[in-house]
Amino acid sequence: MKSTLFRNARIIDPSQKLDTSADILIDKGIIKKIGKDIEAPNNTQVYDLQGAVVAPGFIDMHVHLREPGYEHKATIASELTAAAAGGFVGVACMPNTNPAIDDGSIVRYIKEQAAKAMNGMIDVYPIAAVTKNREGRQITEMAELSDAGVVGFSDDGNPVENTQIMRIALEYAKMFNKPIIQHAEDKALSHGGVMNEGFVSTTLGLPGIPTIAEAVMIQRDIMLTVYSGGKYHVAHLSTQAGLHLIREAKESGLPVTCEVTPHHFTLTDEEVRSFDTNTKMHPPLRSQEDVDAMKEGLRDGTIDVIATDHAPHSYDEKEVEYLYAPFGIVGLETAIGLSVTELVKPGILTISQMIEKFTVNPRRVMDLPQVIIKEGEKACFTIFKPEEEWTVDIQKFKSKSKNSPFHGRKLTGKPVGVVNNNEVMMN
Ligand SMILES: [Zn+2]
Repeated sequence: MKSTLFRNARIIDPSQKLDTSADILIDKGIIKKIGKDIEAPNNTQVYDLQGAVVAPGFIDMHVHLREPGYEHKATIASELTAAAAGGFVGVACMPNTNPAIDDGSIVRYIKEQAAKAMNGMIDVYPIAAVTKNREGRQITEMAELSDAGVVGFSDDGNPVENTQIMRIALEYAKMFNKPIIQHAEDKALSHGGVMNEGFVSTTLGLPGIPTIAEAVMIQRDIMLTVYSGGKYHVAHLSTQAGLHLIREAKESGLPVTCEVTPHHFTLTDEEVRSFDTNTKMHPPLRSQEDVDAMKEGLRDGTIDVIATDHAPHSYDEKEVEYLYAPFGIVGLETAIGLSVTELVKPGILTISQMIEKFTVNPRRVMDLPQVIIKEGEKACFTIFKPEEEWTVDIQKFKSKSKNSPFHGRKLTGKPVGVVNNNEVMMN
């Protein structure tokens, strides 16, 4: 890459408590200079950012890339392009591929594919399965998978149901300082449910998933975390009851963390009245009380991370009766807009706090090095305009799938570019 000069950047780096206006000169992927009115050397690509925010590169720690095995939904190449368009320099990918990420050779395959896509611009951090083929019976070779470079373990899509297996998994993963990422669901309680159990499910006559299905599993896991001393992370938290348990666990100093998706702090189960299958996800959209709790959890720091649970499905798969549609929506390209609109604009989070939940905290949970915006450091940025208004158009998504309930929604806050691994991509 030739050198790049960003003029009029608003640099916000929470790790340095930095919020300042400056130009940034990058050469060979390294930040060469930060300052006022930097002169552009010969052969420099210059961008006037007009006050757009430059933040340490965002990571989405909950993404389903679908490859290998489900390339009709998405490929590593297609979804990394979507990640970049959405303002992410890195994604952690879940192991519910076919074959599942339960062996070092699959980890290496994914890393090789990722290195080929977009010149290796987007970092991919595989999360390995806790159990072989995510079947809940036999623990994977965690040492081998750690050596291959996984950042955590999860059977996502499925919970780790067997208590003894969860206990051993926490104990083993602790040796490698990796979290167990739990899809917290008691399947006996959620059995057959397609939406939140409550007034709306009763009205619509659809089988419900009670909030207790999430909370019971979190409660059990916290007890196991106390016992084993392992690191425990709750994926896509959706309930007030679950939030309370995590808050208490954190107050007593346990290594418990959690994430929330933009749809769980934006939409309620009222949306299901449309019977739009893009309102069907797991965990389901909950009540207004739960949505309010998610916002409060973000505000008070109980919720560490915003992650999308990006789950591409083809048009045909979602174009069926509500009962039979697969769970999940795409999220990479609407995450920043929904977060600014729902959290920053109403004053729940400052921009700096939002940035923490997209970069500082997911990097901490997965034990990845932090990104610092400083001369001499690697240039790894997410660039976005917090004031810009735009309307979601699924046809413009770079993702191979378009399954989003946010088509036509007006948002404030737009990703405009990413810089990483000696590459620059401006939308
Ligand atoms: Zn899940």
